[in-house]
Amino acid sequence: MNYDDLDYYQNLGFKSGLEIHQQLNTQKKLFCHCPVGYQKVEPDARIVRHMRPTLSEMGTYDGTALMEFKTHKEVVYLLYRDYVCTYEMDDTPPFPINQQALDYAIEIALMLNCQLVDEVHITRKQYLDGSIPTGFQRTAIIGVDGWVPYKGRKIRIQQLALEEDSCREVSDIGHRIVFKTDRLSTPLIEIVTYPDMRTPRECAEVDELLGRLLRASGLVRRGIGTVRQDVNSSINGAPRIEIKGVPKTWYIPKMLDTEVKRQRKLLEIKEKLVSYGLVPNQKLDSSLREQERQVELEKIRNSNVTDVTDMLLKSSSPQVKNAISRGDKIWAVKLPQFHEVLSAELQPGWQFADEFGARVRVIACIDKMPNLTFRSGKLLYPGDWEPIAQKLNAYPTDEIVLVWGPEADLKTAVNEVILRADEAVRGIPEETRQHMQDGYRTDFERVLPGPDRMYPDTDSPPVRLTRERVDRIRADMAQRPWEREEKYAKLGLSKCVSDKLATHQRAKLFDKLVDLGILPKLAAELIVDWLTDLKRQRLIVSRLTDDTVIKVMMEAKEKGLPKEAIKNELKAFASDSNYIAKTQSMATDSVIKFIVEGVVDRSMQLKFSSKEAQTRWAKGQAMQSLYGRAHGSKVAKVIEEALS
Ligand SMILES: [Zn+2]
Repeated sequence: MNYDDLDYYQNLGFKSGLEIHQQLNTQKKLFCHCPVGYQKVEPDARIVRHMRPTLSEMGTYDGTALMEFKTHKEVVYLLYRDYVCTYEMDDTPPFPINQQALDYAIEIALMLNCQLVDEVHITRKQYLDGSIPTGFQRTAIIGVDGWVPYKGRKIRIQQLALEEDSCREVSDIGHRIVFKTDRLSTPLIEIVTYPDMRTPRECAEVDELLGRLLRASGLVRRGIGTVRQDVNSSINGAPRIEIKGVPKTWYIPKMLDTEVKRQRKLLEIKEKLVSYGLVPNQKLDSSLREQERQVELEKIRNSNVTDVTDMLLKSSSPQVKNAISRGDKIWAVKLPQFHEVLSAELQPGWQFADEFGARVRVIACIDKMPNLTFRSGKLLYPGDWEPIAQKLNAYPTDEIVLVWGPEADLKTAVNEVILRADEAVRGIPEETRQHMQDGYRTDFERVLPGPDRMYPDTDSPPVRLTRERVDRIRADMAQRPWEREEKYAKLGLSKCVSDKLATHQRAKLFDKLVDLGILPKLAAELIVDWLTDLKRQRLIVSRLTDDTVIKVMMEAKEKGLPKEAIKNELKAFASDSNYIAKTQSMATDSVIKFIVEGVVDRSMQLKFSSKEAQTRWAKGQAMQSLYGRAHGSKVAKVIEEALS
């Protein structure tokens, strides 16, 4: 399948965009001093809560809020003494925002060519699925209107926000959902692109490009669960559909193509239903007051829904038998004129009826599947249907859906069947979907929230982004991967090495080493191969700080040591935390001069507000590289001479 067929997708009006959520590699959380990290240990405590929506000023409920309330969920939070405090559990107000996280977000916004805001305003975004105990997420826009280059054009970045992560879901069974709280409030950036991608393949490629940029920043957490992407898409005549939490970039092309086909099929079904004379029921419109909709739903239930449990006691269908033996009730719903559409295949092995089943599963919490069947399906014998059709006065052109589950949940369940049928006449419902295990089909997750409901956070003061702060970050900003690749090519590195190095966490170390006169190929080999080898030998590579590596390489250069000797020296550092002390000695004048020259050269390519600022910056950089092996006054003197 060609997921890059521009003509095909453009004829359909296909558009797609990305929302990338990436955790930042800070030590602490965003609004408290708890450390960041995932826990495998037993929780120290549990808290149980119930969610309730509140009416807006207009007397209506937010769609998502209402959906979450309809599920009547009990929310359980697992707490970890050392990783969660009273802030996360909404018992104390936030501490001032984590400045390290803010610096990281600014740097990534600059890498994305965003315009920074003058003042960071922290706002609350409503979050009602229980994954944040406060019911809202603290979030702040850092930059807007950025872009990244892609195949000779620009993919526009709508905004970059800094926000706190939510809880991790452990299980969601029946009316009980359990969350781990360790991830809660971990600093996260959210990058939103405009829907500038014109084919599913383009969407995956841009996702990969942004992922490379984030890795190149060196500021983000790596590993499973540290990055999540939401993919949105639409075609002509369809609303925007969001697929949440796509775990892998290479899932995207087939998943989007499958979604396009699902949307086209739903549009066909709508045409068919309209041709049968059906029109949307205005009294079920989602913009109405919930009370009015409930009145209409009751009217429909009174004429089109009936309990048929007793009529099916002798049914030979295993699903029906199982349901009855569990004590479930079975209700039948008549859907006028819906014959033949419920068996339509929307995705491979996924019928239109499965969309109804998913709604019943998620909203009525009837999660033993299948939770329903229909007359033109094959689950029951024709003989089972005859008395039911008679009782409901159903014509052959009407569809009958049977829903089973605990009696207390069946009213919610049949309401969802009625509402989903009405939406089919309207077209494609706006909703959020989740990917299925197979990595390309999707399933209903929740009705699309209205426009994000945002409120100012009265607990947090605004933070001015001073020019000095932004200049300091810009001066030391990581290079973008495409800029690095261009530079590496000029330095004679192979494409394979260049690809790895461009997103390597130690890419800045490569720059420093090359500035200090180390051969580019040797510096690249050290970072891409040698450090990886040490890691494979299970040595502690974090002991090899950039400064340690620089020190080793500079001494090796001075003494003319061969590669093997350098590798052994690095291995010694990674094996023994006391190795530094044993070998510590003051830097020679020539080493100081060499390091200062490199730093000064680099400072010439940056913009500073004054000569003093440039000197200060250069001194900081040089002292870092010299690792306490030279006196500050001596380094300052050499720098002043070099800059005069
Ligand atoms: Zn905390």
